[in-house]
Amino acid sequence: MSSDLWVGLGVLVTLFALEGFLPFYLGRERRLVHASRNLGLAIASGALGVLLAPLLLATFRFGDEAGWGLCHLLGLGSLDGALLSILLFDLWMYAWHRANHEIPVLWRFHRVHHTDTAMDCTTALRFHPGEILLSTLANLPVLLAIGMQFDDFVLYKTLMIAVILFHHSNLAVPERIDQGLRRLIVPPSMHRVHHSVIRAETDSNYGTIFSFWDRLFGSFRLRADTRSIRFGTGSFVTERWQGPLRLMAIPFVREPSDG
Ligand SMILES: [Zn+2]
Ligand SMILES: [Zn+2]
Repeated sequence: MSSDLWVGLGVLVTLFALEGFLPFYLGRERRLVHASRNLGLAIASGALGVLLAPLLLATFRFGDEAGWGLCHLLGLGSLDGALLSILLFDLWMYAWHRANHEIPVLWRFHRVHHTDTAMDCTTALRFHPGEILLSTLANLPVLLAIGMQFDDFVLYKTLMIAVILFHHSNLAVPERIDQGLRRLIVPPSMHRVHHSVIRAETDSNYGTIFSFWDRLFGSFRLRADTRSIRFGTGSFVTERWQGPLRLMAIPFVREPSDG
């Protein structure tokens, strides 16, 4: 297992335990059932990720041998190259996430992530394999254009998984700490607004690691009454849509009129 998986597993277990003692939203009684559903989707997406790994590795090898991309062009050293490529890849993640909200066919897959009505750290694992396939394919030309090194990509993924597990968590983070973190990274207060059932709020706070892209591109949004946010898309909310097989079907069906 690479570092992103080890770190991800450690942060997931730690946050899941802490959510039991210090929850922000109270009344989460079926946490294990909820977690197992999100985990089911993560296993399917993870298996697809393993199948796509050779394609990703071949892209890095090709880019390196051909000397393609901005980092090669600028002749950057390992530290400069790592910083620039992590920054640029996070900017790409902002753009890709925004596209997932604005392009209907992408939203069909991404909405599976947003149908979780009880957001916690396991929601960070709730991605449809179709979204994983599309994002992996879309990442390839971007990685070549940046000239990102494989080790820097692994570092980015490691940071990313830690930050997204944290900002999905149902942890009662003290306001002062959240506010401090918000200057640089996306904390729970921002991402909770992104999972709001109100579409104008869902279409905000697209950042993955860094919070400044949302400020820069006018999509930064906060709510004073974070505690009263209702999560989800307003559809696919009933119990029958929450099993892994039904979650897999969501991109291919119409929104049910009865919830
Ligand atoms: Zn989203
Ligand atoms: Zn999310």
